Parts: sequence; structure tokens; C-alpha cells
Amino acid sequence: MASTTRNRKIPQASNESGTISASASDSDVSIEPLVNERLAKQIQKEFWFRLRHLPSKITRTVGPVGLCLLSLWGLLIYTNHYGPLGYWAAFISWSTDYRKQFTETSFARNLGLNSPALNPYSLWRGVVVISVSTSATYLCIALLALRHELFHWKPEMLEKYLHDAKSSFLGRFVSDSWLSYLFNVYESNYAKRTRDRIQNRDHRATDDHRELAQVVRSLTLVQLVSVLVVFAMWMTLLQTGFESHDVMNLPNSFVPPVQILTWHLIGDTFYFFPHYIAHTPRGSKGIHHRVLPSFLADSLGSFLRNAHKTHHRSKANLAIAAWYCSVTEQVLFNLFPTMLGPVVTQIIADKTGHAKIWGTHLITLYIWLLAATATSVLAHTGFRTSWNDPGKHDEHHEFAFGTNAVNFGTAGFWDTILGTKGVKYIEGAKKWQEQRMRQAALHIASARTGIPLTRAQQLVVEQPMVDYEWIDRRVED
Ligand SMILES: [Zn+2]
Ligand SMILES: [Zn+2]
Repeated sequence: MASTTRNRKIPQASNESGTISASASDSDVSIEPLVNERLAKQIQKEFWFRLRHLPSKITRTVGPVGLCLLSLWGLLIYTNHYGPLGYWAAFISWSTDYRKQFTETSFARNLGLNSPALNPYSLWRGVVVISVSTSATYLCIALLALRHELFHWKPEMLEKYLHDAKSSFLGRFVSDSWLSYLFNVYESNYAKRTRDRIQNRDHRATDDHRELAQVVRSLTLVQLVSVLVVFAMWMTLLQTGFESHDVMNLPNSFVPPVQILTWHLIGDTFYFFPHYIAHTPRGSKGIHHRVLPSFLADSLGSFLRNAHKTHHRSKANLAIAAWYCSVTEQVLFNLFPTMLGPVVTQIIADKTGHAKIWGTHLITLYIWLLAATATSVLAHTGFRTSWNDPGKHDEHHEFAFGTNAVNFGTAGFWDTILGTKGVKYIEGAKKWQEQRMRQAALHIASARTGIPLTRAQQLVVEQPMVDYEWIDRRVED
């Protein structure tokens, strides 16, 4: 495969201690690279260097979704205490106007969607807005990631797309240099310095159009099923007096963080156990064997393993394949654990008479569902960036159905308690980050000393080669 060949040609970067293995071509100038190495070590300790890399360090620690949630929380605090920003009221007004326009179309009239029974807080806000916004989030992130993924897995495909774009009708109106820049933006930013993808495998889905078509078909089906499940969640919420409080008023500042943490914990619990059981190898005993009669535990294991097989056809992850799974898995593993939290807290708040403060708010529900969707896609990108590290779930896919399978949860709560947390991704991320910092410092050192970097100094240490098989044969039993 072209991309593999390309990676194989790249020599290993210098080892972690920072010493250079002098090659024949380097021997004449063997002292000069060491000058840059020594200076780079000092640069990494400099205050300005650390300050410059602080934002990416914070983003990486909190994650892009966490950062968005924290920013939204900041906006909520500001709006509640200092002055309304009006973004929520504007959204409701915009959404209501759009719904009115939509229900007046002949398409909506023919479907009976202009019925007064749907006003004002029913299917539009509960099903259409949620389904459209989550699907759009999924698609946007997956397509943005696909650009980067193609760069890693199928660079020649990008060349073909560039050529097609230049010769297309629209392409004639855009200058060649702009198109080249757009298609090569990652190359110019990353190619010289990094090899970001975590697993060194070719990706069959970017290589074989039938595999990709299968992913797209499966995605379409699970998206349609998701609409029905969202409908069921919405109907359940409406039974609890969900909209008894004024939805236009934003929740108290302290409520969304508590609710989202609680929902995260509930989600982790109801995702972890079926997922863990699905990964218990056939014939071995998992924790479900301790609480269930043997035949029932075995049947449950087989049922969940079969439901989860499709998702693990990818050993090397691809963002668009995040929800590449069976319908059973989509409902049991993805939707149910995510939607249970908002429903449960709403029921409890309602029954205990605290719905006004602790009831599930529409905006918190929207943000939670969007955050869960984004997290799921970002966990499957299969490459590290300075702001997103999907190593944890990547390690899960790498060792999927083997005896050394790890990382079954989302929040990591149960993985920590039951000792199923992997460490490879933590070590990988640390090593990758150290290398990035070292390279950034080396570039500064080179600019200061005027000594050019060696080829080895320009490259990140590559991830170990495992195999190139994209299909996971361990699930074919
Ligand atoms: Zn799994
Ligand atoms: Zn996955």
C-alpha cells in the first residue's frame, strides 16, 4: 500500500534521550546536531516556551468537548449573573419561526405536520431539532476528520480529489494555488513533523469503496432508528411534566455541571457492563457469570457479542465509522445509556417536587446529546492532534476481542474500579507529546543557531507496526 510504503521509508527518529545515531551522511557534522539537541532541552524549560504550549496542553487535558462545555458554562454564568446574552431566546425564536415556515410547506401539510397538537414544544423541539443537530454534528466532525484520515491512509486519493476539484466546473473559478493550499494544508502543517495516526495499519474503508459503502449504508440505517429512539425518549420525558417549568428561562448556573456529571456516570455504567460482557471471550467467565446462572450468562454474552461485532470490524479507527454498528448495538450501547440520565433525573426531580430547579432543561438536554455525539466521533478519529487524543478508544479497538481487551467504559469510572483500564494509550500519548515538544524546541533551536535539523530530528517517533489487517478476524467466530 502506498501510505505504508511511504511510512516505511521514513527513518526512525532519534531515541527519547535525544541522542542522534550518527549515520554516514551525518558523520561530518555529527557535532552540529548535538548543539541543537542541547539547546532544545534548555528551550523546553523556558517560560515563554511553556506559556506558548499551555493552551494546547489544557485543550488536550480537558478535550475539545470538555472545553466547549466549560465555555458554555461560562456563558451561562455570565448570562445568569451579569446580563442576558440572549442566545437561548434567539435560538428558540429562530427555531419557532423556522418551524412555522416548515409546517406551512405543502410537504409538511401532506404529512400532517401542521397539526396544532404539535405546538409548541412537541415533535419539532423534541425530535426534529435533536435528530437534525446530532446528525449534523456527527457528519461535520466525521467529514472534517476524513480529510485528515485520507492524508494518513490514502494520500494518492487526495491527489485525485485535488485533480478532480481543479478540473470541475466550480474549480475553474478558484485559483489553482488556493485549491492546492486547501488540499495540502495538513501536509504543510504536519507532514514534516508528525505521524499522528495511532495504529500503523492501512485502512480498508478508505481503500475499498465497497467497505465504505457498507459503512454509509449501516450509518443511514442507525440514524433512522435513532430518530425513533429520540421520539421514544421525548414521549417519556413529556409524561414527567418535563416542560412544566418555563423553558425560556435558563437553568441555574450550578445545575448543568451536576446533571452532566451525573448523566456521564449513568452513561458509563449502562455502557460499560453490556460492552464488557460483549468483549468477554467465548468460553471465559466474566463478572456476569457471578450473578447469573451459567446458561443465561452464556446466552447474554453471545447476544451482546453478536450485536457488537459489526462495530469492531475496524481495528484501525475511522471517524465516520463511529456508529458503524448493528441496530441492536446503536439502541443498547449508544442511545440508551446516553438518554437514560436526562430521563432518570427528570423523573426523580418531578416526583420529589424539585423539577423547577433540578428538572432536565431543554438546553442542557440538547448540549448533552450533542456532546455525547461529538465525543463518540472524536474517539474514533484514530489519529492524535494537539487538541484531541482518541488513544483510549483506539486501544480498545486494537485489542478488541482478545484476552487483553481494555477500556470498555466512556468515563473510565468502571474501568478504573474493575481494573480494565489500558495503559498503552497513556504511554503512547505521553511519548507522542514529549516528541512534539522536543521537535518544537528543536525548530526554535535551529533558527537560533542557524544549524539545519537532520532528517531524524524532523520526524516524530513512529508508532510500532502491528499488522495491516483492517478486518478483525477475532470477531468472525
Ligand atoms: Zn467494543
Ligand atoms: Zn468504537
